[in-house]
Amino acid sequence: MLEQLLQRDVHKRPPTVRLQGRILFLTEDPDLIRRQIEGEDLEWDPSIPLRDDISTDEITPGWVCYYYDEKLGEYPYVGLETGGQRPIGHKDIIGKGFVAAVSGKRRGKGSSREAAPYAERAAGIRVVIAENIERIYRENCENLGMLASTDFSLIDRIRRGEELPLEAFIDPEAGQIERDVMEYGGLLDYAVARLKGLVQVPAIETASARPMTVAEKILARHWVVDLKEDEVGVPAVEPGDTGFVRTDLRFSHEYVTPMASSFWDDFVGEDAGLNDPDSIKFFRDHLAFLDEVITPERKKAGLLDAAHALHDRQREFARRKGVRLHGELSDRTGSEAICHIMVQDRYALPGQVVVGSDSHTPHSGCLGCVAFGVGTTAIVNSWATRDVRLEVPPSVRVRITGRKPDNVTAKDMILEVLRHPYVKDGKAIGKIIEYTGEAIEALGIDERATLTNMAAEVGGFTGIVAPDEKTVTWLAERRDLDPGEVREMIAGLESDEDAEYEWTMEIDASTLRPMVATPGDPGNGIPIDELDAPVELDIVFAGACTAAKREDMDMYARVLQEAVDEGRGVSPDVRCYLHFGSVDVEEWARERGYDELFRQAGIQVMPPGCGACINAGPGVSTSPEQVSISSINRNFPGRSGPGKVYLASPYTVMASAVAGRITAWTPRAAVPA
Ligand code: SF4
Repeated sequence: MLEQLLQRDVHKRPPTVRLQGRILFLTEDPDLIRRQIEGEDLEWDPSIPLRDDISTDEITPGWVCYYYDEKLGEYPYVGLETGGQRPIGHKDIIGKGFVAAVSGKRRGKGSSREAAPYAERAAGIRVVIAENIERIYRENCENLGMLASTDFSLIDRIRRGEELPLEAFIDPEAGQIERDVMEYGGLLDYAVARLKGLVQVPAIETASARPMTVAEKILARHWVVDLKEDEVGVPAVEPGDTGFVRTDLRFSHEYVTPMASSFWDDFVGEDAGLNDPDSIKFFRDHLAFLDEVITPERKKAGLLDAAHALHDRQREFARRKGVRLHGELSDRTGSEAICHIMVQDRYALPGQVVVGSDSHTPHSGCLGCVAFGVGTTAIVNSWATRDVRLEVPPSVRVRITGRKPDNVTAKDMILEVLRHPYVKDGKAIGKIIEYTGEAIEALGIDERATLTNMAAEVGGFTGIVAPDEKTVTWLAERRDLDPGEVREMIAGLESDEDAEYEWTMEIDASTLRPMVATPGDPGNGIPIDELDAPVELDIVFAGACTAAKREDMDMYARVLQEAVDEGRGVSPDVRCYLHFGSVDVEEWARERGYDELFRQAGIQVMPPGCGACINAGPGVSTSPEQVSISSINRNFPGRSGPGKVYLASPYTVMASAVAGRITAWTPRAAVPA
């Protein structure tokens, strides 16, 4: 495939850009947004509150991502919620002359979907401006050739139609690679320029060994020195080093593979094979249950057909390229697995670099690998070169000491982390989140995965726990690996004593109590005993990559067994749904009688799949008044239907299902260590 890439002609784009057009201010006031859509141009006034925390779910809600081409331009921001309203509708942006979209803090948080900037670009937006911009989203913009900036002084210059140097949109601290990607108008053109020797990846200067964190050690081992010569590995890296790292595993799911496959066919060639297809995996997990919940209006609008087309396209591409697809179940509705759970259970290994087309890819950091989400274009690039670009991020340590109470879980820990001002102010964006401390060491691998998975909600580049004896035992039991070989594999994979951390968050686990995140944002954490008033529930959802693992099943079962023993089950006032994370987890749960217990307790037990977590399966809300408690990882507006979603641990979710209102679980007996 490299030969096909080398046949392409690529050129630098002109050194100046003129972006004359209208500016769209995404404000907190929905009326101001509507007035702009109707034709009014707002003066830039810093006192007008801009919407912070605009997630990619709001830019392109899950159902919009059923499209993977220019049609996306009809939909940017249709999920944007502000002032309790959704002021932007279908075709409100395209054709209105907007070239720039301005918002507040943490633009592009949440999912790594490249559909978000793609939709903005297809609607005419050529530059996004925000106080700060999330890592994956910004990288996706650059990879697509879109401009992004945190410089608000550009607003008036754009409006005046000034000829602006491209330089104005390049972060002054950007490295050579980022500059070259911008100058070549996107990552794929840059890849060709790189292969042709038109650009050089600068060698890093961190030549000699230095104290490193575990993640830095892994990145150093995977650092690409020379792509053509296949030379990989340097003695050391440090934050700020930029380059490419060789990946061990690359995966994508049906939301992304189709767009990536069409980029591949268009850019590289339909006949070109992928580089090392054995280390690429595809998943059909997000939309397997869509048929069961799609509204008649959406079905009439052709969205079900569009969603099926995603599946068909991925299946066809997998067959054509010889890639393993973990697809739909043949005997019933459902998926073989949610991607992250299958990657953790079957594929990822300590010390590896894993990339996935999904923001929760850090999940596998529970095994001591550097796992991170990348966008569509980066996945396509990796199919050709097996590497991905990155700048070594600074590390932040989350040290959780002490012994946690029995009813406190990793989910409660991460909700505590997420409500910390350091995280809420966006200071953890793009950083490596390393979890350490005796409370982390005491956690099983599945529980560690809850923490690393939700590094995505922290805004981090990845989350990681250094591998230890628990990792050895887990890999020996789960994968049948030889413990001695695993010990060799993890040798040296710990952070050096004097490794550098930008900041350390200290948490005493013994002070933690069961938490919920109130609707709207995973950062809205609060101990349950501090809720103002009882919260009555309509829906309970147990599942998703964060909470459909074996240890999660243990927790659901523990609470339900107590309830069933007392002659109780799920409250008649709520509907409760549970998904297994994979067919492996399902089988394991069956062997323990959990599925029978769950059904006996009144739960609707479903085969694996993402389901309601992505607003595409049983358990979604159907009206704004409905209240849910859910074990998923994010509760951004509209994520799981129009209702209000509280996030909580498996214990809390199931105790609440039994009570019919949000309640913490009080164990009758000590939880086994
Ligand atoms: S379960 Fe939810 S968060 Fe996890 S991969 Fe699926 S949609 Fe994403």
